[in-house]
Amino acid sequence: MVEHDGGEPTEPALQALTFARGYASGGQVHALAVGLEPGGLGAYGVGTLHVAEHDVFGSYAPAAVAQSVVELADDLSPSAVIAAGNEIGNEVMAHVAAKLDLPLAANCIEATPGDPARVTRVRWGGSLLEEAALHAPVKLLTVQPHAVAAAEAPAGEPAVERFAPTLSDADTVVRVTERVGASTGGVSLADAKVVVSCGRGAGSPEGFGIIEELAGLLGGAVGCSRAVTMAGWRSHTDQVGQTGTKIAPDIYIACGISGATQHMAGCKGAKAILAINVDRDAPILQSADYAVIGDLHEVVPAISAEIRKTR
Ligand SMILES: Cc1cc2nc3c(=O)[nH]c(=O)nc-3n(C[C@H](O)[C@H](O)[C@H](O)COP(=O)(O)OP(=O)(O)OC[C@H]3O[C@@H](n4cnc5c(N)ncnc54)[C@H](O)[C@@H]3O)c2cc1C
Repeated sequence: MVEHDGGEPTEPALQALTFARGYASGGQVHALAVGLEPGGLGAYGVGTLHVAEHDVFGSYAPAAVAQSVVELADDLSPSAVIAAGNEIGNEVMAHVAAKLDLPLAANCIEATPGDPARVTRVRWGGSLLEEAALHAPVKLLTVQPHAVAAAEAPAGEPAVERFAPTLSDADTVVRVTERVGASTGGVSLADAKVVVSCGRGAGSPEGFGIIEELAGLLGGAVGCSRAVTMAGWRSHTDQVGQTGTKIAPDIYIACGISGATQHMAGCKGAKAILAINVDRDAPILQSADYAVIGDLHEVVPAISAEIRKTR
């Protein structure tokens, strides 16, 4: 299943396609998209692209997407159905599993085909890797975001086949009716290359002014800890962690964040972590590649000022 944003495949979808190619080990990979026909899938080894068309696909309708997956699976009898292990992929595949009465292995980082298939999957917010045997005639898997890098494997333009799924009222009753812009200034937290995050050390909602400024200068997104969302200083959409968003930026700048396990579960995919903290014994320093021991209210504006000087 290839999730797309206005016809542009999402990064987790391309990662899932790369994973699927590995699972198929030379066998055919078919892609399913709903609504629009995403471009560029031939570069990722897709031989056939199936496009499910229906009026409801103007917005996100999880059970309707799942019904399209089920109909295509009935038609193709694949060995596995694979989607990204993000909110959308996991939600749709949970519906698929329920409709087909099959088990779903969510958030896999590895899978070896067979009967049973062997999977390694992320559990408990990333603090545990589970090795499991998956017994099912069709293996339903989702792929933990950032577990594999999206890699091209040019295969020419895929053949495109369109179909109209047979949807019941129950398939269309839950759907997105309105979208409200996130407070991250247009850069999505999950996909941002730079995330500047702040915790209780911000001291107040106003303390995020300097965080937003630095994120803006770096073209990044603003994140926060749960202490902050619990205090009502930021929206939950900004929260990084086990019960927030999982991120994998090139650099994660964590200001005034202690580094609780539940927070680190969301940012351990970062390629580098810069911690800014008054406490040199804060747990986050054990995971940080760089650290500044100091008051974030002084350090963060100083970094922004240096960046401005270079422009
Ligand atoms: C089931 C469960 C799920 C959870 N999920 C999440 C989650 O998804 N995400 C998450 O973040 N947390 C989560 N938590 C909460 C987590 O355990 C911590 O309580 C939380 O991360 C702490 O937030 P914090 O680091 O901002 O605050 P604190 O732990 O209070 O740390 C504040 C830090 O700021 C530093 N500091 C203070 N003032 C300054 C200053 N002026 N300059 C620089 N540094 C300063 C302090 O030295 C300290 O290290 C979860 C907890 C549970 C039980």
